[in-house]
Amino acid sequence: MKPDELLYPAPKGLYCAKGDFYIDPVQPVERALITHGHSDHARAGHGHVLATRETLDIMRVRYGDPFCGASQIASFGETIAINEARIRFHPAGHVLGSAQISVEAYGTRVVVSGDYKRRPDPTCTPFEPVLCDVFITEATFGLPVFHHPNDEREINRLLLSLKQFPERSHVVGAYALGKAQRLIALLRRQGYDAPVHIHGALAKLCEYYQGQGIDLGEIRPATLGRESRQDFAGAIIIGPPSAFADRWARRFADPLAVFASGWMLIRQRAKQRGVELPLVISDHCDWAELTQTIKEITPSEVWVTHGREEALVRWCELQGIPARPLHLVGYDDEGE
Ligand SMILES: [Zn+2]
Repeated sequence: MKPDELLYPAPKGLYCAKGDFYIDPVQPVERALITHGHSDHARAGHGHVLATRETLDIMRVRYGDPFCGASQIASFGETIAINEARIRFHPAGHVLGSAQISVEAYGTRVVVSGDYKRRPDPTCTPFEPVLCDVFITEATFGLPVFHHPNDEREINRLLLSLKQFPERSHVVGAYALGKAQRLIALLRRQGYDAPVHIHGALAKLCEYYQGQGIDLGEIRPATLGRESRQDFAGAIIIGPPSAFADRWARRFADPLAVFASGWMLIRQRAKQRGVELPLVISDHCDWAELTQTIKEITPSEVWVTHGREEALVRWCELQGIPARPLHLVGYDDEGE
């Protein structure tokens, strides 16, 4: 069957008529398959949700219970039949529990990669290339100018700053799911063993990651309480981007503003946020990783969901791979 009969963009999201389900729908639907726990992909209020155990747990942590009518766990590699479609989840390497979803019917296979990255991440299972007829990819950093430096190099810049400015608290803005935990795990890998202080909004997710066997070392709440201001001098404090923008970040001893995001490659963005130390740490592929992934999978066709679609579509065409943008709405690449 034609791939665009198997899966196509509908107002509520990508829809599979053969299985009568949506993937990462942006509005409540009867049956949803969810790639990962970021809030623009995993929304509350669906009738039935199929996702990895970790993604379901993360939704429970974020939305409370019940967050949907009924849920079902999809294990990596397991084939699940939904009406006339056969589904399989494969690791996406984006955040804990993140998956690509393979949808197959009548000999045609489409893989929806959700959000993904290729470089090693101590907090989740690495991306697994899956052969398919159509590969659906995001293009958050889909321009040749996007080249993400080595993670260790970025972490070492933070560690160096701590040495250079021991009297200043280092307040780091990082997305609450995935980025914050990865940042802490990377710090531990580079030998940083002092306690890491976190904003309350990160507590439950950090606790969940630790409960899943991901070693984040000693985590402490970044509450001032009876502790004096100076107690945070020379410490690392991590908060979500929203808290970072308000007065929370300014409560600490001579705060040095750090921000961890793929977007920190763009100096203007760092400047707008008042970031002194921008760390380019991304949970998405850069240009080389996007194009390398497509070369590796060799799909017959590429569909691009969100981000900078045009450049990637053009690149595919130059490689002789038909490609088109899907123009899906409701996905946010700013929270990266
Ligand atoms: Zn995501």
